[in-house]
Amino acid sequence: MAFDIKKIREDFPILKRKMNGKPLIYFDNAATSQKPAPVIDAEREFYEKYNANIHRSIHRLGEEATKKYEEAHDKASKFINAGFEEVVFTSGTTESLNLLAYSLGSEIKEGDEMVISQAEHHSNFVQWQQLAKNKRAKLKFAEITDDGTLDLGQLSRILNKKTRIVSLFHVSNVLGTINPIKKISKIIKEKSNACFIVDAAQSAPHMKLNVKELGCDFLAFSGHKMLAPTGIGVLYGKQELLEKMQPFMFGGEMIKHVTFEDTKFNDLPWKFEAGTANIAQAIGLGAAIDYLNKAGMQNIERHDAELAKYCYRLLDSMGDVEIYGPEERNSLVSFNVKNVHAHDTAAVLDSEGIAVRAGHHCAMPLHSLLGIPASARASFYLYNTKEEIDALGEGLKKVSKVFS
Ligand code: PMP
Repeated sequence: MAFDIKKIREDFPILKRKMNGKPLIYFDNAATSQKPAPVIDAEREFYEKYNANIHRSIHRLGEEATKKYEEAHDKASKFINAGFEEVVFTSGTTESLNLLAYSLGSEIKEGDEMVISQAEHHSNFVQWQQLAKNKRAKLKFAEITDDGTLDLGQLSRILNKKTRIVSLFHVSNVLGTINPIKKISKIIKEKSNACFIVDAAQSAPHMKLNVKELGCDFLAFSGHKMLAPTGIGVLYGKQELLEKMQPFMFGGEMIKHVTFEDTKFNDLPWKFEAGTANIAQAIGLGAAIDYLNKAGMQNIERHDAELAKYCYRLLDSMGDVEIYGPEERNSLVSFNVKNVHAHDTAAVLDSEGIAVRAGHHCAMPLHSLLGIPASARASFYLYNTKEEIDALGEGLKKVSKVFS
């Protein structure tokens, strides 16, 4: 399908809103994306036509809901080239990564080592830090160079046979840096026996992922950043690893047989999906994946990277804007107008109808490394345009004028 941005924009009802009489320019996609009509319709249709619990009802509604839920599972598996058994639905990246910290964490012993980078989102940071504290294990940090990329030489040097877990971002939610996951997988396998976890929250919405090619053991992402509703996300894990892992939560759905003495757990992926699932949200995710596939992930990747580059160059040419991270980036640009707090920048832009994020973007350690309390972030998706970025440029000129 041709990538027709005019048509795409028509599919997103929220983009018709006016802000202060101006067209809404939504540049906060890294926080959450907007939703197209087919996703909203899919969720509504579930509640209007076949709302029922799944996997346990003999009646027709239950069967229809189960079929649609399992179809969504199938679409999510194919989206990243994983097997059906290898994709677990969670509430999002945060739950996926906590599930891993709990299940893999039960095997961590005193003196074991874990590695994350200095630029991780708190949801790929705090649980490893706490796990290390609780188990007297060591948490090491892969360093970020001055140009905002991961220092692969330093990463290689801190890996050894004691390293049990390496968990890294694919695309940084602050720097926009794209980590070379395939290359990193190789380095990890050469130097250690560690499990390699990829936080794909900022890559899955924007690039075609193939877990077989990436070579990671686990990968996590959130539906709401890729056109789907909130409350649904994915944990991919290699089948042989998921088979061996302890469930994260116990209860209904995740069991095969329960006696007074013991429990036999359910088959994959249901072993990791205790309790009533987020059924409507999962069906919404299925519709979102259909939408992304139709637009073409390669088209989306090219479009979003082009916008990020255009924005980087525009902001760079302004003279009083500091940009964080390398020029080669995926879909977002974090910056500060010199001598202006990011919150003030965002407030002025908001008055122009432009929504950007301002703050530490759940990456406080990285911001302290950068020596700044906060940054503003413009993040793009398939419905954004260069004209909107030009408007951001004009908005930033106003910021400079107001605060000079
Ligand atoms: N990792 C990264 C890189 C992110 O950008 C985010 C969301 N900002 C998360 C993890 C957490 O995602 P969620 O809040 O959807 O669980």
